[in-house]
Amino acid sequence: MYDYDLLVVGSANADLVIGVERRPDAGETVLGSDLAVHPGGKGANQAVAAARLGARTALLARVGDDGHGRLLLDSQRAAGVDTVGVLTGRAPTGVALITVDPSGDNSIVVSPGANGRLTPADVRAAASLFHASRVVSTQLEIPLETVGEVVRSLAPGSRFVLNPSPPQPLSAEVLAACDPLIVNEHEAKVILGDAGAAGDEPEDWARRLLAKGPRSVVVTLGGEGALVASAEGVARVPSVTVHAVDTTGAGDAFTAALAWRLGAGESLAEAAAYAARVGAATVTKEGAQVSFPTAEEVAAL
Ligand code: ATP
Repeated sequence: MYDYDLLVVGSANADLVIGVERRPDAGETVLGSDLAVHPGGKGANQAVAAARLGARTALLARVGDDGHGRLLLDSQRAAGVDTVGVLTGRAPTGVALITVDPSGDNSIVVSPGANGRLTPADVRAAASLFHASRVVSTQLEIPLETVGEVVRSLAPGSRFVLNPSPPQPLSAEVLAACDPLIVNEHEAKVILGDAGAAGDEPEDWARRLLAKGPRSVVVTLGGEGALVASAEGVARVPSVTVHAVDTTGAGDAFTAALAWRLGAGESLAEAAAYAARVGAATVTKEGAQVSFPTAEEVAAL
């Protein structure tokens, strides 16, 4: 019996957002809107998304001993995430400085801060969390060597899910553990190590990714849904038609939902179909964590 349906190992950032008429050029100062501060980071987002759906969720992450760190801890606890694995100190909380113009185009500077100090030793010290978790998910906003240690720390019988974002080349050891590797088009191309041959279909990327070693692959296709690939073949997952207002966080919500449903015993195709509904519900609302749906909202979609 596992204590947690999902352990998320990953980043926690404060997103500092200012609206501007025009993003500044080098050397230029522009005036903007009031500052908005939102909890974010792919790890923190995945944990909140899973907990809101009803998954028993824990987060292993590192924040600074500062106000942004407390904001992140509060938002995790409010969603029902167990924060026993959230470590504090070594550097300020990670921050994303975001300017957005009226057309919605943005410029983002990320300071990884404490996320960059989540070490392999931190992972080893959290062995009890790994043994208590049915599924472990992570992303690449923490050091790659830490992701490697996550893979080596998996308890026998537990499942590993990776969204390699922001994308970087992965070791054979990490790739072999993924079940599934979840990528969008951009991430697929970076992991494949080429720009993607012209005319290639997502089915081709999925097959080529599978040949790199993961046990299964999911390619997310925005409003087109997703596709799943494993030794059993490649299959399309239908999209759900919704009125999209803001796609921020759709990938994080999709990954969290997929990981949770796989742990509940669903097939890859079943879990991806549910995750596509969760992603679709997410894009119907503004924002990231505030847009993640409950299971009731997914059922009502
Ligand atoms: P992001 O980086 O913006 O969080 P992503 O690129 O990792 O997202 P997407 O493919 O955009 O991931 O979205 C994940 C899933 O959410 C999709 O596979 C799809 O099921 C669902 N989704 C996203 N956008 C839409 C949309 N406009 N309509 C319906 N479903 C959507």
